[in-house]
Amino acid sequence: MPESLKKLISIINFLPWVWEKSATKLAFFLLNANKNYLENFAKSLIHLHGSIAKCEICWSLIDTWKHICEICSSQERQKDIICVVEEYLDMVTIENSKIFKGRYHILWGAISPINGVFIWDLNFESLFQRISEFEGALELIMATNPNIEWEATVQYILSELEKRGLKKFVKVTRLSRWLSSGYLEYADNITLINSIKERKEI
Ligand SMILES: [Zn+2]
Repeated sequence: MPESLKKLISIINFLPWVWEKSATKLAFFLLNANKNYLENFAKSLIHLHGSIAKCEICWSLIDTWKHICEICSSQERQKDIICVVEEYLDMVTIENSKIFKGRYHILWGAISPINGVFIWDLNFESLFQRISEFEGALELIMATNPNIEWEATVQYILSELEKRGLKKFVKVTRLSRWLSSGYLEYADNITLINSIKERKEI
């Protein structure tokens, strides 16, 4: 097999959810694909990082020429409810359910010292800043994944709110326990909607 094809297979095989056999099949698909498609594919990969930035308020992903995402700049979204999620895709899942009309804050992970993720690696400071700059009471929905990291993350937020004198302005809630058997992204729409509707105060 030519070296360049071997290299392509090993690059594809590096991707998650791709087995060696499917990596080979995908490489041959690309080998036979039309030139325009391949050029667009290559361009998208080359410009991927350079074309994506983070919203200055919620840290969601946006095009580089914007500063603020559509949700943060929308006047129709409630400002006094912030849904805190671990990952961008968690936000997408909740958005797709169409039940939530507030705004988001993306932590980009959860506290997990075993996996080398510490408090300073995550997007906490801008959350506390958002809360302290907000005039009036607000609700924080902790919609992160239900596991040990989630508990540590929620506990850290609660203790910091207390420490910074913000707790009296903030009602912290969590999704109802219905999602405890799996991750947010695997929850079906009805379960997710009910879990948000029936959220409980922590
Ligand atoms: Zn935003």
